Amino acid sequence: MITDCHIHIQPWRQLRPDALALMRQSDQKRQAVLADAGAPAVDLAALMDDPAAFLAYLDRSGVERAVLINYTSELLGFTAEVNDFVARYCAADPQRLIPCGSVPPRGEPEAVRRGLDHLLHLGIRMIKIHPPHQNLHANDYLRGVEGLRIIYATAEREGLPVMVHTGTSVFPGARNRFGHPLDCDDVAVDFPRLKLLLAHGGRPLWMDEAFFLVRRHPNVYLDISGIPPRGLLDAFPRLEEIADKTLFGSDWPGPGVPDIGMNLRQIQALPLAQKAQQAILSGTADRVLGRP
Ligand SMILES: [Zn+2]
Repeated sequence: MITDCHIHIQPWRQLRPDALALMRQSDQKRQAVLADAGAPAVDLAALMDDPAAFLAYLDRSGVERAVLINYTSELLGFTAEVNDFVARYCAADPQRLIPCGSVPPRGEPEAVRRGLDHLLHLGIRMIKIHPPHQNLHANDYLRGVEGLRIIYATAEREGLPVMVHTGTSVFPGARNRFGHPLDCDDVAVDFPRLKLLLAHGGRPLWMDEAFFLVRRHPNVYLDISGIPPRGLLDAFPRLEEIADKTLFGSDWPGPGVPDIGMNLRQIQALPLAQKAQQAILSGTADRVLGRP
């Protein structure tokens, strides 16, 4: 019962041209890697509109459940419609597909509240904050971004986990200073019951900081997506100590992640105790996300 907590099934038709060009370019590399491995080709654009085809791909990959990450971002072109998109997509199989959505954090407080009501109404089960793509620090509620405070407070009250992108981003125009995980230290202090997932564990610049936060705060978790599996134990040599707070994620089909199954098998090949493997691949996600 493996859960991939970080997959991007998104409405590509909304992407701005330069972001779309990057996705297309990395898609060509992906197709080449799959062909080299003798694996069947995957029509990415088709999967973005066809949950049945995506579920069949998950079956081939050996993954039971997937969290489908969506967020609003002017930089990428994604509007609040991504929430309706992902809710509709996940309705194809609510046991296996978990919708993650977002509200623009810089909106007026009333608009943010309305947006959150709509997310709850849609059955969104995780909220994403992407500081380098949304142009703010994860702790900017301390500097007047009231919408961010409302998002965290609502998620804490409703028991919805919040995933924050930590680490760098290669998308054109991304501002990487916003990716520092220590901004999440404030969030964990101010919203202690909020389940906070550090996407990518601060990769590649701030991984020690991410490890510290996961150990320091009872409700801060590590999402290992987007970290090359072969380098995972170099980045987190004490990963087994935090296995109960670590979730497997692939970040597929992001640049550099050609295939979910390949990614998973590389994680399974790591020299980790079986108990730690089980926690990372299934147990932690079951606790954080629950089962409907
Ligand atoms: Zn991602």
